[in-house]
Amino acid sequence: MDLPLVQKTLDQKIQESYKKYMANELTEQVAFGLAKIGAALRTAQWRAGEQSGLTPTQIGILTTLHRLGADRVQALAGQLGVTHATASDAVAALHGKGLVEKSPDPRDGRAVLVGLTESGRRAAQDSGAYPPELLTAVARLRPDDQAGLRRSLTGIIRSLQESGLIEPQRLCVTCRFFRPNAHPGSDKPHHCAFVDAAFGDASLRFDCGDHEEADDADKARQWTRFLEATSD
Ligand code: SF4
Repeated sequence: MDLPLVQKTLDQKIQESYKKYMANELTEQVAFGLAKIGAALRTAQWRAGEQSGLTPTQIGILTTLHRLGADRVQALAGQLGVTHATASDAVAALHGKGLVEKSPDPRDGRAVLVGLTESGRRAAQDSGAYPPELLTAVARLRPDDQAGLRRSLTGIIRSLQESGLIEPQRLCVTCRFFRPNAHPGSDKPHHCAFVDAAFGDASLRFDCGDHEEADDADKARQWTRFLEATSD
């Protein structure tokens, strides 16, 4: 038996399994960190709810309506990632507190839109869209780390959207106006054809009001090109 050859094969196998272990370890640690942040957000929501007398779902509905305007219960459920029944119960409770009002949907007379009353608008502003502790934690990051995080979150949200865990969001990377890496080598490699302006990872949008969904083939092409780009 050729002992040096056996040793070399063994070394290769050990290295391969170590690399695999490290890749899994990295993925798990990132997922662990994200789960920790999710748990902290839930805690902050419950604490805010104790003060305002609202559940996290009710606060979520108020802040979503404040951000996006009046919408149907089904759409609110999708935005919050809860069932239609849960959103419906929360809307009914908010209606009872005088924080939301219902009106016929002009697009379909049989459907109902839920919107904020004046008190609901004030309650949404008081609740704040994000816990101040989270805003402080993000603000403490260096600008280039914030830009890198924004790029990474774009990929994670896009993937969760594709797997159906979250409702489609109005992301740059799924928009028909997005031109990723149109200016390679620049600190603003991407281009928005809607406003005809270059921008970098730090300006990638998660919820753009001008977003229009690209078709599937364009989205796949855009994503490949996006991965080729790096920016400051
Ligand atoms: S329109 Fe909005 S979502 Fe679309 S590329 Fe421009 S900034 Fe991004």
